[in-house]
Amino acid sequence: TTKQLVMSEKLAAIGEITAGVAHEINNPIAVMQGNLDVVRSVLGDRASDLSTELRLIDEQIHRVSQIVTKLLQFAKPEEYAGYVERHRVADVISDCLPLVQHLLGKADIDIERDDGASRQVLMNRTELQQVLINLIVNAIHAMPDGGRLRLISRDETRDGRDGIRVDVVDTGIGMAPDVLSRIFDPFFTTKRRQGTGLGLSISQTLVRRQGGSLTVESEPGKGTTFSIWLPEAD
Ligand code: ADP
Repeated sequence: TTKQLVMSEKLAAIGEITAGVAHEINNPIAVMQGNLDVVRSVLGDRASDLSTELRLIDEQIHRVSQIVTKLLQFAKPEEYAGYVERHRVADVISDCLPLVQHLLGKADIDIERDDGASRQVLMNRTELQQVLINLIVNAIHAMPDGGRLRLISRDETRDGRDGIRVDVVDTGIGMAPDVLSRIFDPFFTTKRRQGTGLGLSISQTLVRRQGGSLTVESEPGKGTTFSIWLPEAD
């Protein structure tokens, strides 16, 4: 459609600009990180007096660097494609959970896993991990008062193609139709300054590049289900 065409032209332009800017930002970030390490070691024992401040600086540098990495992956995916290997989805989910653990306690969220898939997927492991983490973190954000996060994987054949489906199901705030229609647009976020609006558009790009799909069902006040489908690795 025309809308998709305009969107892809916009993306190409954004991609070129972004890649340039992101590369430029990487150098000062590296200098800041390096000097922070120096400050820590010069302070020695006294570093503990400033532990909160140092941690904040560290975290914010990390945040900027994550945004830049995301932007680069989005702008120049071919440079970041990396190795594609066979994986059990359950193993990749196991890798992700420790990384989001600190977010769960805060909001009192139960995790339920159902690893029913026996087939393996073909994908870059870091990318698959990134997609899952994006979906899991979004699910956690959607349940500020707690709830249940379910991670379900199943073998599923679609249109005659053998594959694996992974559902990330939350019991959170859900989405109204006007939000739902825009969530895969780059830079669309309802989280103001907390969000980049890149998580879902990048996730969809990564999954589609492996011949898969990322779809969503949501009901305001009830919750949301994101479904990843990936073809089986031969
Ligand atoms: P970000 O999380 O940085 O905002 P995303 O692309 O990951 O960027 O998500 C875009 C928007 O989609 C979010 O701002 C939010 O409004 C909505 N969204 C994504 N996942 C969920 C979810 N599980 N429940 C409710 N809303 C969601």
